[in-house]
Amino acid sequence: MKSLWNDADAARCDSELALRAYSSRLLGNDPSLVLHGGGNTSIKLEDRGTRVLYVKGTGSDLATVGESAFTPLRLDGVHEVLARENLNNAGMMQALDTCLARRPAPRPSIETLLHAGLPFRCVEHTHADAALAAMNVEDIDTVHAEVYGDRAPLVAYHHSGHALARACMDVFQARRTRNTIGLILAFHGVVAFGDDVRSSYENMIELVTRAEDYLKARGAWDIAPAAPTAIAGASALETIRGEINAVAGAPLALHIVSDAPCLAFAQRADLADISQQGPATPQHAVYTKRVPMIGHDAQTLHHYTARYRDYLDAHLGKSASALIDAAPRIVLDPASGVCAFGATARDAQIAAQMYQHDIAIITRASAHGRYRSAPPAAIAQAEFEYGGFAAKLNK
Ligand SMILES: [Zn+2]
Repeated sequence: MKSLWNDADAARCDSELALRAYSSRLLGNDPSLVLHGGGNTSIKLEDRGTRVLYVKGTGSDLATVGESAFTPLRLDGVHEVLARENLNNAGMMQALDTCLARRPAPRPSIETLLHAGLPFRCVEHTHADAALAAMNVEDIDTVHAEVYGDRAPLVAYHHSGHALARACMDVFQARRTRNTIGLILAFHGVVAFGDDVRSSYENMIELVTRAEDYLKARGAWDIAPAAPTAIAGASALETIRGEINAVAGAPLALHIVSDAPCLAFAQRADLADISQQGPATPQHAVYTKRVPMIGHDAQTLHHYTARYRDYLDAHLGKSASALIDAAPRIVLDPASGVCAFGATARDAQIAAQMYQHDIAIITRASAHGRYRSAPPAAIAQAEFEYGGFAAKLNK
């Protein structure tokens, strides 16, 4: 992966925050690094004697981010929140609200504490496809040691927020060397940091390039999809569509992608194994749900929704589970490829795009190891905290 840093564009930025926004857009414009609201960046600046953390707020997209999308927070206050024990994310967000350096401001990112805790001027966080394709395997520790070692120590999976930030600090303090430029978040993504905007951005590029090089060396990068077989029966999907709407409780938009990679994936002999592990990063589940449904007859839908309800009940409890419908968002069909459903046409398109990235990641991971994802409990929590499926449907 090449750095897209351009000195002329950088020179046009009239403040450090503007420069921070510029390099954030470089990351955000590459869908292999972040998709639809994923990822975040930050910079720590002096503001009239106060150290202020500017971290990309929730609700904005890194691809188009400007200076006003960064939430200014008093760094000292955020450090105090990070130091608190056993804080849940609702409590964390309440405490962060009292740290705002100015109002109005965008709602702080759920990863604010992670950005605050790392003792570098700039921090970047992405869900880079290449890193996920290299790391999302059963043998993650061995692969990590080979690809990153102390350059970017491995942090075991934790849900985003206070727990993840604390885990990152523990690993950083225990394993950091002079060689360290980032952290690898298992089944989630990459963190890079640096003391200026450019070096921090280019440290992210280096960490992603290391994963690409590893995949290339194992023949797991350039993977031509197997030639898909033409199968009749794509229209059968229309029959099940009404039943899926009934489970969702509202009519869902449908977006079908029948290109060669999607068809080849839907026709893989090992589909029932590799497609049922979970998404490459929990955030994808907000649009794709944890796992796709394979096939589209009424019996399959019945089994899918029953299993999905059990999974939500087990990990969220009945009352939270009831807020999420159990209808699939991705249906894999050997005749049609990827059939993505969403509360709106845009949601269906985003779901399809995210699943296409999952296909690329799962395919590459399966070419050098056994694909794995974050545990089901973590994905359920992501669906609940970031998703709001029910809220969207009710709108
Ligand atoms: Zn993330």
